[in-house]
Amino acid sequence: MSTGKINVSVENIFPLIKKFLYSDHEIFLRELVSNATDATLKLKHLTSIGEAKTEYGNPIIEIKIDKEGKKLHIIDQGLGMTADEVEKYINQVAFSGAEEFLDKYKDSAKDAGIIGHFGLGFYSAFMVAEKVEIITKSFKDEPAAHWTCDGSPEFTLEAHTKTDRGTEIILHIAEDSLEFLEEFKIRELLTKYNKFMPIPIKFGTKKEALPKPENAGDDYKPEYIDVDNFINNTNPAWTKQPSDLKDEDYKSFYRELYPMQFEEPLFNIHLNVDYPFNLTGILYFPKLAADLQIQKDKIQLYQNQVFVTDNVEGIVPEFLMMLKGVVDSPDIPLNVSRSYLQADGNVKKISNYITRKVADKLKSLFNENREDFEAKWNDIKVVLEYGMLSEPKFYEKAGDFVLYPTTDNKYYTLAELKEAITANQTDKDGKLVVLYASDKDAQHSYIDIAKEKGYEVLLLDSPIVSHLIQKLEADNENLTFARVDADHIDKLIKKEDEQISKLSEEEKEKLKTTLETIVPKENYTVQLEALDSTSSPFIITQPEFMRRMKEMSQTGGGGMFGMGNFPEMYNLVVNSNSELATTILNADESAQKELVKNALDLAKLSQGLLKGEELTAFVKRSFETLK
Ligand code: ADP
Ligand code: MG
Repeated sequence: MSTGKINVSVENIFPLIKKFLYSDHEIFLRELVSNATDATLKLKHLTSIGEAKTEYGNPIIEIKIDKEGKKLHIIDQGLGMTADEVEKYINQVAFSGAEEFLDKYKDSAKDAGIIGHFGLGFYSAFMVAEKVEIITKSFKDEPAAHWTCDGSPEFTLEAHTKTDRGTEIILHIAEDSLEFLEEFKIRELLTKYNKFMPIPIKFGTKKEALPKPENAGDDYKPEYIDVDNFINNTNPAWTKQPSDLKDEDYKSFYRELYPMQFEEPLFNIHLNVDYPFNLTGILYFPKLAADLQIQKDKIQLYQNQVFVTDNVEGIVPEFLMMLKGVVDSPDIPLNVSRSYLQADGNVKKISNYITRKVADKLKSLFNENREDFEAKWNDIKVVLEYGMLSEPKFYEKAGDFVLYPTTDNKYYTLAELKEAITANQTDKDGKLVVLYASDKDAQHSYIDIAKEKGYEVLLLDSPIVSHLIQKLEADNENLTFARVDADHIDKLIKKEDEQISKLSEEEKEKLKTTLETIVPKENYTVQLEALDSTSSPFIITQPEFMRRMKEMSQTGGGGMFGMGNFPEMYNLVVNSNSELATTILNADESAQKELVKNALDLAKLSQGLLKGEELTAFVKRSFETLK
């Protein structure tokens, strides 16, 4: 037996490790299972190139709990270590790794955005154990070694009788970490971190029913036996070639990833690149609820099939964070702070690659089956619209597949839309006016009037649409958007032929004064217009600019600070060519009051503004007139 002192500058680094990583103690298991996996894969490689003259076989990793002994065992059948190798890899390499880690961590701990989920390697075992043993037998023809360390720099190393190849790590669980002796806890951790690792991981046994015998009667009771319980799928879908996977394989992998998710994904995007960085993965477009419910099933980040985190901020472009699925890349530096991560060139490339891949997929879905794409539009539009606003690279490509639906369920791309409406919706100043509604029911009467003129009305109802419109206007010369209730339709798209006024200037002035004394001016600006005599006599409109700014500030627009608190202001457009206008003009004072009040109520009613007490009074008054 030999004893020794590990050469380390910090006298006792374990309390430090413990303190720094207090919230992440659980990662010790991931680290040890990763080491066991590495050891097995290394052996596989060595046997495949003939360096190791040993039978590779079907090695597994086993995790065992010894509750009475307060021990946790991690056992592998990998390449093992000789005593010299333990000296080298455990005492020197692993320790220096731990020291290096601490150095880095101390600096970046100031940065609150540190990723807490990265490896400290073998020594993370001391976060939960007061003593650690390694019993290891190398594939080489040398005796097994037994290393013991209690967390101080002192260790012992002696020979051991173990004859079968591989390594057993024994953790003597510390009093403050006894939860790691609970079966459910270990199962939870293995499922979280190791569910898709490449070497089978055995943990306990499970009951399995024997097949029903053919001569079994009706009263047959299935017979159960104990079989090994394996935690992981060693061959998850994202590690396969896209050409080897069918639609159903993607769907079943989705269920495997999110067993509690019952809704099927809309479609998936298989990521697969190995130059200039290595990245694989599958992203799924889920059906999104309109209210963007808090995300529970998030995109998971793996490194070589080991789960790292479900916080992919900075790696996946922000607009795609609402997606689900897996990203696996060994090229993402994890022992750094978030801000460093965002500045990292590779990470930026990864994010751009994902954006491009998603755009390409959307384009091919659109081209291959437009009908299906249109049917899914409602469920994906928020992500895409947000992408157009936040990711210039995505915006560039979006023209190929982003759709603008009409209130009649027609779907145009922007180019198609422009072409379809140019003839009819270009105003006298050469501006192409796109009409839209945000609510088919509430704006029904306005939509109707626009359609009577042969105009197309889009239905744009996502919460960030005002921002998008603003951007489209800025980027498309002579294109302007107007909501159907922003003004009278003839004002929204002004054509050459100005209507001739039936009333004289003097009469108009008189009518305006009358109206202004009756209509509450804190809410309405009266606007007389000489319109077609058959058009509505009174309509309420809300100017596009004011409304849009208000909406933008409500959904977080820079520069429009405080607009959200502006009172609602409307225009009352009165058609001076209507019969009603003439009637009001010629009526006596009390009749005028009555007429204006009723007409205003009707206008409010069609804008959905007549509510509560006012609505009750209106209905009552209307019934009176039926008597
Ligand atoms: P890393 O895995 O990043 O190299 P670790 O601290 O986890 O760092 O492990 C240090 C070294 O100890 C490994 O590189 C490996 O050589 C050795 N090692 C750890 N666990 C095992 C094991 N189960 N079997 C064989 N070698 C191991
Ligand atoms: Mg390791």
